[in-house]
Amino acid sequence: MKNSLNSLSEQELSALISKAQGLFESGLCCPLECGGSFPRPCGAVESGIKAASFSVHEGEEPPVSGWNGAGNIFFSGCSAKCVFCQNWPISHENNGRVYSIEEFGENVVKLLKKKVHNINLVTSDHYLARILESFRNIRNELTVPVVYNCNGAHTKELFEIILEISDIFLFDVKYADDVPSIEFSNIKEYVRYNTACLDRLLERNIPWVENDLGILQKGLIIRHLVLPGYVENSVKVIEKLKKYKDNGLNFKLSLMSQYFPAYKAHDHPSINRKLTKEEYSQVTSLVEKYDIDGWIQDLEE
Ligand code: SF4
Repeated sequence: MKNSLNSLSEQELSALISKAQGLFESGLCCPLECGGSFPRPCGAVESGIKAASFSVHEGEEPPVSGWNGAGNIFFSGCSAKCVFCQNWPISHENNGRVYSIEEFGENVVKLLKKKVHNINLVTSDHYLARILESFRNIRNELTVPVVYNCNGAHTKELFEIILEISDIFLFDVKYADDVPSIEFSNIKEYVRYNTACLDRLLERNIPWVENDLGILQKGLIIRHLVLPGYVENSVKVIEKLKKYKDNGLNFKLSLMSQYFPAYKAHDHPSINRKLTKEEYSQVTSLVEKYDIDGWIQDLEE
């Protein structure tokens, strides 16, 4: 099966690159809509691609990591700036190094030589145009699925491009309520942006496709991290996903309990602790009641 990238003609790919470039130049690639001047609040640099690592990752969901691992690329900077981010040196402090388009492609090819099952773009909205430029140069080698691993809040225009180039989505539904989103993730209308993306995913309804060895080739995995003190938000998220399930959305849920108070979470007393068993079980029991398929992380993990 061809990946989405290789299903595009040269002209189609070039048109997507120009569109993504236009959105970046005008600062319309994320809900912050920064307007395009530098420095950018997400940390995007003026030229090249700033990335923190190219690595084989074994910790994604089982059909994504498989036995050889996912080919993760962690981009420096992020639009969401979650105060509790466990990757804060990369997302907030913008650690990493700048690669030219060619160097970036060379590093992707090195990762592919390690036989990774996919290329997993972690928080890449701000570099999408340049990533696609680089992918254009290595298209013949990049035959594995492209995973879009994101915070779940995208502008409509950028999401249309993402839909064309991605095979697998690791798509966050962090909040069903804008109050914690504003307080913890610096996005004013997370729910509106996130819902619009979910609606497009429902329209597109990506089939769940694994190869003969159980490695995911296409599909949507929705991730939700349960926050301490915000069970009500998680309950609303699960209720919302149940509606999408009833409307026919193909997805698996990855429910995560791994929260711990990292970075600036210490300045927010309501989330300055770990999740309790009682809190988590309220959410897991709802997932089980609604028979939503996927993975439930153990609280002890
Ligand atoms: S992703 Fe970065 S460059 Fe794009 S609009 Fe958001 S803050 Fe601006």
